[in-house]
Amino acid sequence: MENPTNRTALVTGASRGIGAAIALRLAADGLNVVVNYAGNQTAAQKVVDEIKAAGGHAISVKADVSDPAEVAHLFEAAQEKFGGVDVLVNNAGIMKLASIAQSDDALFDSQVAVNLKGTFNTLREAADRLRDGGAIINFSSSVVGLKLDTYGVYAGIKAAIEVMTSISAKELRGRAITVNAVAPGPTATDLFLVGKPQEVVDRMAKMAPLERLGTPADIASVVAFLTGPDGAWINGQTIRANGGIV
Ligand code: NDP
Repeated sequence: MENPTNRTALVTGASRGIGAAIALRLAADGLNVVVNYAGNQTAAQKVVDEIKAAGGHAISVKADVSDPAEVAHLFEAAQEKFGGVDVLVNNAGIMKLASIAQSDDALFDSQVAVNLKGTFNTLREAADRLRDGGAIINFSSSVVGLKLDTYGVYAGIKAAIEVMTSISAKELRGRAITVNAVAPGPTATDLFLVGKPQEVVDRMAKMAPLERLGTPADIASVVAFLTGPDGAWINGQTIRANGGIV
């Protein structure tokens, strides 16, 4: 077993985007990190290599968060390598945009499977397995507040995640485990950028009074705060990290 005295973080969807920045940040803060990914093994390995090159400890584990058996395997791999899990970051997600009228069953079902059931699967597993004194961070989105056209299915699911977050915090009473959600605004990752015309990206970047897109590192800082000693008294909350967009 590698480095069992360190705290260990399991970050879903950590091969790219916000999840990769969280993995790198938590490793720099001294945690062992399990870098989960769905298909992009090369990108996940790159995150692991970067953590190791900086003297940290990490493994990559492939698991589709929408599959309960794969999620159980993910926690087992963490247990085997590092002895347990203290921090769960439910970051993995997909976004497909269309008006409700034009959303087909595949658009709806895939987002429910990955974003909602994926979060549920890991929360359920973590309720049994997370060590006392740990922290769980779920991922919502500031579109829950903005309520933009075409985000109906995605934002509706994220709203459900905010409610599950507060209820999980209550259900873990007595174990010194905090459960919070982070709700980023537009953040410069594939999920936000791919498929959007540049003028839409530019317009959305100007919507916040700070007049820029968020960076993955901006969001990783909030996760580091919530999972570290300075965030210990924040529990059951959703923190919007968005430059003031809503
Ligand atoms: P990216 O598309 O950049 O990265 C998505 C990550 O999730 C990848 O690592 C991908 O793995 C992984 N993933 C996708 N599906 C699955 C699955 N079924 N099982 C396991 N892992 C999976 O997304 P972001 O970094 O932008 O988003 C991260 C989170 O932040 C999401 O929950 C998103 O909803 C939320 N968010 C993002 C905003 C933004 O503007 N970017 C704004 C508000 C919220 P692989 O590389 O293997 O495909």
